[in-house]
Amino acid sequence: MTLTARLGSSSRPVKIAIIGAGPSGFYAAGALLRQKETHVSIDLFDRLPTPYGLVRYGVAPDHQKIKSVTRIYERTMKDRRVRYFGNVDLGSDITHAELKSHYDQIIYAVGAQSDKKLGIPGEDLQGSFSATEFVAWYNGHPDFRHFEFDLSVESVAVIGVGNVAMDVTRILAKSVAELETTDITDYALEELRESNVKRIHIFARRGPVQAKFTNPEIKELGELEIADVIVNPADLVLDDASQAEMEGDRTARRNMETLHDLAERGATGKPKQIIFHFLRSPTEITGSGGAVSAMTTEKNALHATETGYVSCRGIGTYAEYDVGLVFRSIGYRGVPIPGVPFFDRWGIIPNEKGRVTAEHGGAVVPGEYTVGWAKRGPTGVIGTNKPDAGETVKLMLEDVKNNAVASSPDGSAAANHRGLHTGGELRPGDITTLLQKRGVAFVSFADWQILEQIENERGALRGQPRAKITDVDEMLRLIQSAKKEAAALPS
Ligand code: NAP
Repeated sequence: MTLTARLGSSSRPVKIAIIGAGPSGFYAAGALLRQKETHVSIDLFDRLPTPYGLVRYGVAPDHQKIKSVTRIYERTMKDRRVRYFGNVDLGSDITHAELKSHYDQIIYAVGAQSDKKLGIPGEDLQGSFSATEFVAWYNGHPDFRHFEFDLSVESVAVIGVGNVAMDVTRILAKSVAELETTDITDYALEELRESNVKRIHIFARRGPVQAKFTNPEIKELGELEIADVIVNPADLVLDDASQAEMEGDRTARRNMETLHDLAERGATGKPKQIIFHFLRSPTEITGSGGAVSAMTTEKNALHATETGYVSCRGIGTYAEYDVGLVFRSIGYRGVPIPGVPFFDRWGIIPNEKGRVTAEHGGAVVPGEYTVGWAKRGPTGVIGTNKPDAGETVKLMLEDVKNNAVASSPDGSAAANHRGLHTGGELRPGDITTLLQKRGVAFVSFADWQILEQIENERGALRGQPRAKITDVDEMLRLIQSAKKEAAALPS
């Protein structure tokens, strides 16, 4: 008679795969490790060799303090119950069915890897980009390092007034001296050194009260060395609905104060200008010789909807701005993963508080969960992911208790574990066997530490926190040669 250990006991920990090693994946791992009732073993996967997702490739290089959160994630990776598998892509290196057969529970922490489109003519012209492409480029994301942005132009349009728009604007408006001590990539710094950008036009479709940026971010624009911020005082005169909205919203009140200060200060003769345009929606991007040369906008008026939401509509007054680059910064969007449900309208994995559902409002898919932007859409700051992950983890533990775990196509995940613990034949066995058999060059935590040390040492030579390596092949080569060198040393 074979005795099967209880799922979640010390002899039969719950096997959990987390797909995506960004903030939401780490907060999910952290919540699973912190609780004491259920034993877990966690494999954390990322499609890139490097962990930390948006902290590495999204957070602006001049916001190093925010990046220090990785110290907490590092502690998670050092936990003996956690293994890191970088450079493993779900969909090409490993299939959804394979994951299901190896793990009791899967958490998708894949974020929102794409962006929203404006849907206006000229959006695909050369020189029209999403802000996320620019951000990923200056932050050294391997998929974006080859992008080219023509910074010889004098005027640039940034569409949207969220924090990503503020990041992009700041990077375009800062001096090289302000950037060279950050971890911005060397190639981006070189391009920015030669930049001819003098005017950055920021377009908000609604009014200043409805702006999505948070107060430190707008304040920061007012503190730049070589850029003035231009705000038209007339744009700060509020309609009744906006006045009411502002009174109930502390961030909006602070933002309005800052915008009033900036409007009062006006131009002080700095070489660059950041010019805010409220109540303007882009309607067309036009080009000459295939590249962006201008953008047309329509003036909007605000109106309150039945729910109290302050919306906008065009009033038929148009204005054209000469710009050589357009960055739409109107929000991120998820991309589907083969085999995993996707709710296209919202660009997320359909879910009920983190339990994946077969479709929006549909039945729960046992054993599959989601956290972060893949779960709730691209909103909130890094810290928002902590309670969000906590909510999902609570349900996961409940499901273990209620035995509502997945069963794999070729027998239950538990069957594989019985093999592990009784010495019986392992069917798929450990995931490393499959990855090795397939020749997937996965990166472990120890490998990442090698890479991180190289980046830190190279950065220190240049007075930077790190000098990012941006090419995946180079990352893998450096890890291999460091390991060979270490092996050759006399023990
Ligand atoms: P966001 O905060 O949602 O802002 C998107 C902006 O795009 C809004 O101003 C929105 O205006 C506008 N927009 C959307 N569709 C548009 C359209 N069709 N035409 C014109 N404008 C349009 O998104 P995000 O800036 O990408 O930021 C994503 C999340 O990351 C946010 O929660 C943000 O706070 C966070 N983040 C934080 C930091 C930080 O803490 N420093 C840095 C970067 C990002 P409406 O309001 O009118 O829709």
